[in-house]
Amino acid sequence: MNALRRLAILLCGSDPRLHRMLQYWAATCVLYVICIGLLMVQVEQGVIHTGAARGLAAFGAGGALVFYVLIRAHSLFRLAPDQLAVFQAAFSLACAVWAYAISGPLRASMLAMTVVIIVFCMFALRPRQTLMLSAAAIAGMGATMWWLQAHDPLRYPPLTEALTFGYLAGALVSTALLSGEMSKLRSRMKRQKGELSDALDTIRVLATVDELTSLINRRHMNEVLEREQRRQAPGTDTCIALIDIDFFKQVNDQYGHATGDAVLRLFSAAARASLRANDVLARWGGEEFLLLLPDASLGDARAVLERMAERVRGMTVPGLDGRRISFSAGLASRRADEPFADAISRADKALYEAKEAGRDRIVLAPAADAMPECRHAAR
Ligand code: GH3
Ligand code: MG
Ligand code: MG
Repeated sequence: MNALRRLAILLCGSDPRLHRMLQYWAATCVLYVICIGLLMVQVEQGVIHTGAARGLAAFGAGGALVFYVLIRAHSLFRLAPDQLAVFQAAFSLACAVWAYAISGPLRASMLAMTVVIIVFCMFALRPRQTLMLSAAAIAGMGATMWWLQAHDPLRYPPLTEALTFGYLAGALVSTALLSGEMSKLRSRMKRQKGELSDALDTIRVLATVDELTSLINRRHMNEVLEREQRRQAPGTDTCIALIDIDFFKQVNDQYGHATGDAVLRLFSAAARASLRANDVLARWGGEEFLLLLPDASLGDARAVLERMAERVRGMTVPGLDGRRISFSAGLASRRADEPFADAISRADKALYEAKEAGRDRIVLAPAADAMPECRHAAR
């Protein structure tokens, strides 16, 4: 299996763009095989020369091989994919014209082949290139038909050849024109794909980030907690803190909702600046925040919260007339086997204690029933 995979990578590479080019190449090879098959049938029937059919078969197979090498190593030869596609299409059209020239009664099938080649071009080339190749095919087939009816009018009746030429020219021109429409469709789809990808990015941000504070939101924090639950090694501690701004309703009532919003924004920035590299702070709801401190002892976590309290106290909020902002926090240490919901619930009880005890403080919520309390060091 591994050897097969290595062989596939050796033959087809691993670049999706190269795969696409090789797919077109493989489709062209199928056309060659059909074309050569039709020639061989006619050789069997004795209506065309064996030498002519073999010559075309060798030319087609040799060309296919050369194109495989050119496509596989196109970066080495500095060949642009669409340049290669043009050469490949021109070669295929030359084969179709040659096949028509040496074919007997089955020659009409070579016309279908010509149209199929132009249809391929619609997908791989720009409309202008497709139009040019169609014009070349019409000219090539036209010249061949004219030469055939002029030199062997019995086998190639002039009227039949003229009508066949009209049919072919009509089919090629309409296919080439369709390719213009197709190109417009392709660029519209490309633009829509870009818009869709931008919209997805926006949705991803909206789904994970709180618009006002730019902190992660509750929904995303729950995912972070789930990940942490899977990651946390037994025997290590992680701390959780629930933080709530004190008297925030008063701020809103006295200074207005916009000032309240500014407090939330500045608080979030100050809080974030106090964290360690792996700590995660989320807006849990309203003026309440949840802080996850991975691999932190209660002492480490307390130090972070004290630092945060210091910064928040030093905040200057425009429009707040110098009023100082403080917060209360409930802090719980969580063992690896404790569900996060339980640790959050203990932190919540500790937060309630902090509010009851007069706010602007951190209350520790150890697993034991006693909840030691400590006020912020500097006030
Ligand atoms: P405590 O010290 O006990 O926490 O009192 P508090 O006033 O901070 O708490 P309370 O729960 O009574 O009030 C919280 C207020 O937060 C009520 C709500 O209107 C306000 N709030 C919630 N979300 C926002 C927001 O996004 N912007 C603003 N400006 N206010 C908000
Ligand atoms: Mg509050
Ligand atoms: Mg609250």
